[in-house]
Amino acid sequence: MTQTCWFCKENSEDPTKATKIPLYKITDMEKEYLWRGSIKQLPYAIKTAYRYLTAKVVVPRCNKCARDQAEERAVEYVAGILGLTGIVALIVLVFVA
Ligand SMILES: [Zn+2]
Repeated sequence: MTQTCWFCKENSEDPTKATKIPLYKITDMEKEYLWRGSIKQLPYAIKTAYRYLTAKVVVPRCNKCARDQAEERAVEYVAGILGLTGIVALIVLVFVA
């Protein structure tokens, strides 16, 4: 059975380009109050532990959307590197000046 692409809702899916999206559901939360001896040291340190379920949903995707999304990720990656070098350059300038 061929499904329609989830993203563009126009093209039919390419089964090899399907993407998996992870889902998380918190099932339980536990707070642990760590007593630190003296009453003067309030508030206590609080440790929170979560229990959760995970599942992966397979989302039908067409070839075109798979390619577009790969490009978007590449652009984000390059933008991230440029942003980082920009910050480093700024720090260098501040220290040199
Ligand atoms: Zn599509």
